[in-house]
This record gives sequence, structure tokens and C-alpha cells, in this order.
Amino acid sequence: MNTRMIYEPDEESLKYAAKVIRDGGLVVFPTETVYGLGADALSSDAAEKIYKAKGRPSDNPLIITLPSVADVEKYAYPPKSFYKLSEKFLPGPLTCVVRKKSIIPDTVSAGLPTVAVRVPSNPIAQKLCALSGVPVAAPSANLSGKPSVTSLKSAIEDMYGRVDVIIDGGESEIGLESTIVSLDGDKAVLLRPGGITIEMLKEVIPDIEIGSSVKEEFIGRPSAPGMKYRHYAPDAPVYLLDGSDASVYEWITAKAEELAAEGKKVGVLCCDEDTPLLALPGSVSLGPRGDDGVQAHRLFECLRSFKEVDVIYGRLPEDSGLGLAVLNRLLKAAGFQIIKL
Ligand code: AMP
Ligand code: MG
Repeated sequence: MNTRMIYEPDEESLKYAAKVIRDGGLVVFPTETVYGLGADALSSDAAEKIYKAKGRPSDNPLIITLPSVADVEKYAYPPKSFYKLSEKFLPGPLTCVVRKKSIIPDTVSAGLPTVAVRVPSNPIAQKLCALSGVPVAAPSANLSGKPSVTSLKSAIEDMYGRVDVIIDGGESEIGLESTIVSLDGDKAVLLRPGGITIEMLKEVIPDIEIGSSVKEEFIGRPSAPGMKYRHYAPDAPVYLLDGSDASVYEWITAKAEELAAEGKKVGVLCCDEDTPLLALPGSVSLGPRGDDGVQAHRLFECLRSFKEVDVIYGRLPEDSGLGLAVLNRLLKAAGFQIIKL
């Protein structure tokens, strides 16, 4: 497929991209979280193209992106709690799972009675969604299983030749996918941590629960750990080390030497403060240890930067604020493989 690049998304070029969406095509576009892979959410055929371009299993439902909160009622039955959350956090990096109207095809919701809705704050995303005039189904623009796309370079790497249009929006501001909250049951449930933190959500819905999948991932006790659950993953296997600074430094340095003797290269994902690790040849820093915003912003590009290593070792990040979302993505990238020191 021929992919048209839009480097300067002005009114005219966005009108063109919006028409591509209305005509059933695929458009990669920037949002404040990660790059999205957009298609007309009212068309089963268009939604199917998304699953095909990503290599995504068809039982994994798509998020629909809308230009304004007022549009949500056209496609779903939002409960009161949705408006409470939207007042505070929308437009922004929050996705809400609500009852869907029948106009949303089963291909988009993967057969569920609910649909995940999002109103992005990124001006290019907003403009594109408004101009297209249809809800835009938009999962992250990565190949299924790979780290999400947070730069034009990665968008091209994964999607060039698979989509009709790629729109340049520079680096994604947040760098992690939206927070997902289910509002379908009696209680609100956090399904995926992200840019809107659990601490922020609790200010609006004090009794919000953390979904069992998030909790299991958070404490690293999935029911079935291993490669089956790898997601956001670079090519090499990832292991997370749980231990004191000194023990982690000693363990990785010895391991790197041992593997170097076998002609193998080790990748290390660490922080600016981990100077003994930064001295190793395959090290990449996520940023300052105390700055979860920078770590979130850089995480996926760092994971993608490990191109020619045989194994990657990382450290467990803090689990508060945005750190919970970083930890969640790292645990998935590692297939929950944690080495306790
Ligand atoms: P991505 O599109 O890659 O950002 O991933 C979207 C995430 O939203 C996936 O983890 C889906 O399982 C989740 N999701 C989408 N729709 C629903 C829904 N109706 N109910 C629960 N989770 C959903
Ligand atoms: Mg994704």
C-alpha cells in the first residue's frame, strides 16, 4: 500500500486525512498519549483493516476517539459518573468503558455490549476527529505485541506501507496509553493505569477499585506468567530485577561479563542515578529516578532502542503516580519475569 506522509498537518491536509477515514482508509495520527491508528468506527470493514494492519487478535476491542464530550451520547449511554470524570479530565488521557449503542459494530467492541470512548486533548487529533465526522476507532499505532509508538520514526517503522496516511505530530507528550476506567458496573474500576493516575481518579470517585488484572500485574503475580503475555515488548527477552542498588549493580555487571564471554550483548534499562550500570555498553537511561513523567515519556522509545542485544535487564520503578503505569507496561514487556535478588 502507498503511504502518504503529512509532515505539516494544516487544515487542508487534515481534511484530506479525514476523507481517507470517511472512505474506509487507515490514518496514523498523533495524540497526547501515543500515536493512534485510526479508521471509521461505524464501518466493520474499516475496523477489520485495523486488526489486520496491527496483526491484532480480533477479540481485543478498540477504543473510539471523539472530538468532544458532547459526542459520546451519539454512540453510547454514559452514566452520571462519566460526566463527573469528564468535567475534570476531558479532553485528556482518560478512556471510559460505557454501554454502547447498536450503531457501534461488534467488530469494534469485539462483541462486548460496551465501548471504550476517549476525547483526546491533542489539537491535531481533535481536528482530525472533528473533520472526519465519524467516531474514529484508534488503537495504538504499533504492530501487535511491540512497544507503542511515541515518535514519527517509530510510526514509520511499524506502519509505513500498511496504512494510507501517517501524520507527523512530533514526540507524544505523555508517552503512555490512556488510563482506562470501566463505568459499566456498580463501581468504577481502573482497567489500565495511565496519564490520569489512580490518585487523581480517587479525588472524583473515592470508591474506585483497581481491576484485578492491574493488581496482579502490579504485584507481579499473574496467574500464568511468561511469554504468552508479552506486550509492549522489544525483540530480546526482558527481565526485571528486584533488589537494592548494590545487589542490582553487582548482579548485572557480573551477568554482562559472563554473557560477553559467550559473545552475547546485554541491554540495561536504568535511571540517571545508576552510574555503575550506565558505564556498561548496552545501557539506556529512562531519566531521573524521581521523575515519573520523564520515565513515562521515554519508556517506549527506550524499549525500541534495544536493537542488537540478546537480553535486557531493567529495574522495578516506583509504583505511585505515573510510576504505576510505567511499572504496568514494564511488567508486560517482561512477560512478568522478575528476578528477586
Ligand atoms: P490500545 O487500543 O492498544 O490502546 O488498547 C486498548 C485497550 O482497551 C485494550 O487493552 C482493550 O482490551 C481495552 N478495551 C477496549 N474496549 C474495551 C471494552 N469495551 N471493555 C474493556 N476494555 C476495553
Ligand atoms: Mg496498544
